[in-house]
Amino acid sequence: MRIIDPFLWQSAKFPPFIAFSKHSRISPFRTNSFAYRTVKDRMPVILTKVIDFLCRNKHKILESSTAEEGRSIEDLKLIIGKLSQLRSEMQTNKTLRPLEISSSHLRDDSKWNNELIEGENGSAPQWFSSPWLLVECYMYRAIYCIFENSIHLKRLDPFSHMKEELIIAQKCVLNQLVAYTNDLSQTITSASHLQANFIKLVEISLWANRNDLSLSGGDARTKPGSFLDDIEQLNSHILVNNVNELWLYVEQVQKDFQKKELGIIMDNSGLEMVADLCFAVYCVSHKLFDRVIFYVKKIPWFVSDTTFGDLQWALHYMEKDVPEMQNFANKCLGYLDSQQFQVVEEGYFTLPLPYHVMKKEDPDLYNKLSQSQLLIFKGDLNYRKLGADIDWPSTTTFEKFLQGFKPAPLVALRTIKAEIICDLPSTTVSELELLDKDWMTKGDYGLIQFMK
Ligand SMILES: [Mg+2]
Repeated sequence: MRIIDPFLWQSAKFPPFIAFSKHSRISPFRTNSFAYRTVKDRMPVILTKVIDFLCRNKHKILESSTAEEGRSIEDLKLIIGKLSQLRSEMQTNKTLRPLEISSSHLRDDSKWNNELIEGENGSAPQWFSSPWLLVECYMYRAIYCIFENSIHLKRLDPFSHMKEELIIAQKCVLNQLVAYTNDLSQTITSASHLQANFIKLVEISLWANRNDLSLSGGDARTKPGSFLDDIEQLNSHILVNNVNELWLYVEQVQKDFQKKELGIIMDNSGLEMVADLCFAVYCVSHKLFDRVIFYVKKIPWFVSDTTFGDLQWALHYMEKDVPEMQNFANKCLGYLDSQQFQVVEEGYFTLPLPYHVMKKEDPDLYNKLSQSQLLIFKGDLNYRKLGADIDWPSTTTFEKFLQGFKPAPLVALRTIKAEIICDLPSTTVSELELLDKDWMTKGDYGLIQFMK
């Protein structure tokens, strides 16, 4: 098999969307970039893990299928073959083939294939010379496409076992987090307590975002017992921190609005999802917001991104745990019953499109988001989409970065795991680079960026 030679790529001609433009889109074409390392190293590993999982768990998967065994085996063999082909096409820099979607409930084929056929440079996009956002999203959409085109395994989530194992492995941390949030709620005796605890839960929600299976290749990052103890030290690594401005705005919402809705555009399942639930429970139980909408992914995405199925699985798992976890799960399920919590699946979040074109491409979703008084965008992929995955100068203002996207006041909570950033002085960037040249890709630094 021919593997991409980095030196060959360095001497190749720059594609038009990168060359000579003032602000280019991030692409694996640059061999010294994290995007390049992602497509070359991380993405093939993720595909290999899916293939290994299917091979190792053949019998379990066949047991869960309703079809007779012979037919399901053929189905599974076909899926494994197609996944291997996808990996080989990636590693040999083939073009991204139009998705063959026969009966997708997502109805996203025309939007996807427009992106794939037109390309930015007028020719079919290739794995190593196209915008990173397109290429990385394509891999996950193509994986789902392979499953949805099968006969008996259409709805199999090839990452669900990793997400479930993560929750089981993090059980102690989750117990501590739920108990801690409960304590915070019960010790409020003044407005300043309400504010201080709100800020603590925002910080917890931020740092929980370090746990990302697409970055770690499937391994849990947080070791039992360490998460809450680390928060204070981690807070010194928040490079832009607008949490006080955020609180002032939340106070203003209390005065100005009768109905107060919070939208959380979620990232990862596991610890981050539970931290977001803790934050939402705090907001609703202290009447900071009447309702919280959780926007989740409609299909398995970036390994650990939260789907509706993940949320249901986690709540039912917690329901059977120690009493404190049971109470927490019951509270969440109660809020879901009363619609104070709502889970919304939207197809736009699994398109390779940035958010500044949402108003034009999906006006219904834009209007839905506008109903909220505050939107929280969690994690790196949301951040990349907020900034259109452009290689912005670090000093770009958050407002410019968003390019007019503003359905409601919004905050980005993100640990930095990709080479895109704004609102950061260039002197800070130089200092961080001297400390660690990979500071933008490890999730060791965080941002709380708010725009009213
Ligand atoms: Mg994620």
